Amino acid sequence: MHLRELFLRHVAQTSDIPLGLEIEHAEGSWLYDTNGKKYLDFIGGISVSSIGHRHPAVVEAIKAQTDKYLHTLVYGEYAMSPQVELATELAKSLDPQALFTEGELASRPALDSIFFTNSGSEATEGAMKLAKRFTGRYEIIACRRAYHGSTQGAASLMWPKDFTQAYHPLLPGIRHIDFNDVESLELISEKTACVIVEPVQAEAGVLPPNLQFLSSLRERCDETGTLLVFDEIQTGFGRTGSFWAFEQLDVVPDIILMAKAMGGGMPIGAFAAPREIMKVLGYDPPLGHITTFGGHPVSCVASLATLRFLKGSDTIANVKAKEDLLRSKLIHPKIKEVRSAGLLMAIEVGGFEQLRKVQMAALGKGVITDWFLFNDQSLRIAPPLTIADEEIEFACNVLLECLDES
Ligand code: PMP
Repeated sequence: MHLRELFLRHVAQTSDIPLGLEIEHAEGSWLYDTNGKKYLDFIGGISVSSIGHRHPAVVEAIKAQTDKYLHTLVYGEYAMSPQVELATELAKSLDPQALFTEGELASRPALDSIFFTNSGSEATEGAMKLAKRFTGRYEIIACRRAYHGSTQGAASLMWPKDFTQAYHPLLPGIRHIDFNDVESLELISEKTACVIVEPVQAEAGVLPPNLQFLSSLRERCDETGTLLVFDEIQTGFGRTGSFWAFEQLDVVPDIILMAKAMGGGMPIGAFAAPREIMKVLGYDPPLGHITTFGGHPVSCVASLATLRFLKGSDTIANVKAKEDLLRSKLIHPKIKEVRSAGLLMAIEVGGFEQLRKVQMAALGKGVITDWFLFNDQSLRIAPPLTIADEEIEFACNVLLECLDES
């Protein structure tokens, strides 16, 4: 039987409109199907393949680690250099003293304790539990049209309820505010364990933050003893033009979530917090959050190679120029708006039907785009950060052609 038929029959489906490409191999910004047709991955595996597919440093690190050991014991027991080195590097990247030269920002506690997970959703779960445990409160505030994951805790944060209605009751004590609405911050009180926000609302169709909103949010959390959680699962590892998005926003969170691009194509996530906060998971009773595979050594070396490549190259420094190039090319009467934060981009083209037409036509011409969970007006663009200017030009020309024809 054909690969696609077996895919539809035996691989559980998440919708009735899978793209269903038959992938043969991938390299850099490109995917190749079993017919030898190549596709420019203009969504980078949804903000995952930020340093391109099969980056040589990642592949080499994985190969070397497979010669040493794979899984050894549940997370948290053995001192394994892939995990320890990665945690050390991440902690360095999350030290406000190194990121901000002066004042209040630089004196905020470093997020120097990293809890490794297998995915973004698990990072959200861990952070929600950590905030409840640390504060002794159970109310959690999230933003409408944010996405933090699909497991039941993370899904409890979701608004609108269309995707989650069938699974109720979910967690009690969840309240919602509107992203960038300073007035709604009054909802945060002494009862709130944490507020969880994406620094750029990705699934809402790339809504960049209002800096006043974020600084008022930080202030209100400090006033009420509420932990501020930044979900950088999509924005982290350089996507918006700095290693973490918060570096550009002058707000330091108490907990940060990461995943997606973190593994350079391997599955890994984490939540990080100052040790003073994180330590509560480890005693009285211990084992507050546990995982068998979290921080798998092979994923950790892939992540370390990714982090070192990003820190040691000009990839992140070039994000802004590539964003500008994209914006300069994406001009068309049918494009209503382009919203972007680095190489996280939404092209507003109208209704879902129009969007789907353009998406499928582009796919036919070898360019992969996508849409957003909470915005059916906009095409999603999130190419590898390593994408070449000629590749950007090729993809933009295809998109403009498809818009002409739509
Ligand atoms: N938070 C954000 C901002 C995300 O974009 C995603 C994934 N789209 C998640 C959480 C969930 O991550 P995962 O799919 O790895 O569980």
